[in-house]
Amino acid sequence: MADNQTVSEEIQAYQELSCRTLERALREIPFYAAWNEFDPGPSAHIDQRFAALPELTKEDIRGNFPFGFVPRGVDVSAALRRKDIELVETSGTTSEKVTNYWDQRWWDSSERASWQLNPVMRSWATGTHREAILTSSKNVGRSSDKLDLNFARRRLDRFLYLNEKTSPLLWQSYHYRRMIEELRQYAPEILEANPSYLWRLCRFALEQGLRIEQPRAVVFTYELPLQYQLYYIRRALHCPLISSYGTTELGYVFMQCEHGRFHQNTASCRVDYRPLGGDDTMRRGRILVTTFNNEYYQIMRFDPGDIVCLASEPCPCGREEGMVLDDIEGRFSQATFDRSGRPVTLRSLDETVFSSAGPREYELTQRDSRDYRLRFETGVDPGPVKTALQKIYGDDARIAIESNEVIAPGVSGKFRHAGYAGYGIINRGG
Ligand SMILES: [Zn+2]
Repeated sequence: MADNQTVSEEIQAYQELSCRTLERALREIPFYAAWNEFDPGPSAHIDQRFAALPELTKEDIRGNFPFGFVPRGVDVSAALRRKDIELVETSGTTSEKVTNYWDQRWWDSSERASWQLNPVMRSWATGTHREAILTSSKNVGRSSDKLDLNFARRRLDRFLYLNEKTSPLLWQSYHYRRMIEELRQYAPEILEANPSYLWRLCRFALEQGLRIEQPRAVVFTYELPLQYQLYYIRRALHCPLISSYGTTELGYVFMQCEHGRFHQNTASCRVDYRPLGGDDTMRRGRILVTTFNNEYYQIMRFDPGDIVCLASEPCPCGREEGMVLDDIEGRFSQATFDRSGRPVTLRSLDETVFSSAGPREYELTQRDSRDYRLRFETGVDPGPVKTALQKIYGDDARIAIESNEVIAPGVSGKFRHAGYAGYGIINRGG
């Protein structure tokens, strides 16, 4: 643990970086020029200056591309030609897609800074370590649903992409065996995985009595790990399971420490907090992220769309700088609502489903203010599940429970697990 003087120096450095980022944006970046009228000016505390500013929306980003977020004097066309940066499009439905500039060096430096927040990552994630990645090919790696790609075609630098399919529903038994064998041969230090994909591999290994090679750590990205997934993953993999939270636009924003809390990556971004309301503790809320040190593309006060829960007490790991979260509770688009209209986060729903149904994959769709439809991949006794769901949604909630259903990922390759139909679960967005 750092001594008090070091911590206060870190906080000071963070405030100064926040200030430089804000002032450069207001002065040099076309889109933010209009935000000058909200800024109370340098005599106010930096937190107050940020709090006075509006929020950036996806519509703002789309409507002001390609030059609105680039500092004056920076030639992005030349940088694109030199291949210092490239254009990327985030995954999701057409209405959710955003194009932005991708600066690999900025991304790598954000990732390296996040590793410092967990001792296992600090020791083993050196930047030259072997890493296997298990997620939808819509997120990273080469994609090929019809033909299988051999080992060599799924290698890139220090990475091995275990899967080339857009959905794990396309995996046959030999794909599972291939992944287990490749993990044994490649022996990665880090396995980065989408929990919706990894749990299936773990369940297969357990059912077949096969051992999975143990990495130094599993890092969850892309999705919130759920209880039924952790049930299988913890039985097959005995290394630390660490969640890393970030997005294409924002870089690495939070990393779980050795005590399971999420610490803000203060070297890479600023995070402001907006409580949700309707919760006496004010610990549940949204986050607004401002990126640091991105030469080409400045994002300020952007809500990545997740519901977080602030830590109720200092973390025993001793890290004091930046925001500390007890948990990330799922996306807003995965929230459902009880009969009085209060949001139920995916995390709360997940705990309820796991405690009443056991380790089973599920998807809940709320069709209107009273109708809920819960589908399971396997058979389940509906009685206890219905009672448990009525406890969180209300006694008069109409709950339909269906077993042996096919649960497929959305267009982004990720699984939804829950959502209100009005929020687009029907179009299976990203
Ligand atoms: Zn901690």
